[in-house]
Amino acid sequence: MTPEIFNRAEWEKKIENPFWYDDVTQLMEAVTILHSHNKVEANKLKDAIYSFFEEKLREGKVSLGTDGKKWNLERKPIDTIVIHHTSNPEGLSKDRLSAIELLRLYAPAYAKRTKREPIYSDHIRDGKQVFWPYHWMIRADGTSERLLDDDEIGWQAGNWDINCRSIAICIDDDHQYSVPDKKELKIIADLIRSQYSQVSKDRIFGHCEINPKTTCPSELFLNTAERHGWKEDLLEMMFR
Ligand SMILES: [Zn+2]
Repeated sequence: MTPEIFNRAEWEKKIENPFWYDDVTQLMEAVTILHSHNKVEANKLKDAIYSFFEEKLREGKVSLGTDGKKWNLERKPIDTIVIHHTSNPEGLSKDRLSAIELLRLYAPAYAKRTKREPIYSDHIRDGKQVFWPYHWMIRADGTSERLLDDDEIGWQAGNWDINCRSIAICIDDDHQYSVPDKKELKIIADLIRSQYSQVSKDRIFGHCEINPKTTCPSELFLNTAERHGWKEDLLEMMFR
């Protein structure tokens, strides 16, 4: 590992400053560059960075806003569903997810804003901010776990209008090159049918359909000339 990319002691100081997020873009770019020639080391480094932030969030050592923009006021009636996968091995904890998304979503977004203020997600649990982008996590044991409430906006689709009007459902696994099993698809189908029956078939999307820069939730989600994608299986279960 290259110690220059991520120095714990240095970051322990940095996160005391509410504008620590200014340095995250550069840090994550350095990880991406390392990834292009040494995947193993880059993944180890990413893991060390996420572990650090998970630990520091738990300890309340990351400087964040105590108040801020009320993002959830922009919530619109729900008429859209967006499907994701975590692209991590199954069993991703809620604390780790919060640390990952603080760095991936909130830090760069706050660094780009013209208004300079400490990060405030407007999503509070037990007096602490959380940074989950999804409303539901589909776990391998066949359960659906609630993350955000329906009146909270998930920073998930890469499109603010869609974020405001959608529910994000995420499969707790890496499905880049694999099809979720029938059991997982059935949980998603049942969840949408039972809780979001107002959403029409043509408003159920994979993340990649909203944001073409990602392949989430899977390379195998959409139909191609050679095969049918698992989106079709999901819709069939729902609208049979
Ligand atoms: Zn996604």
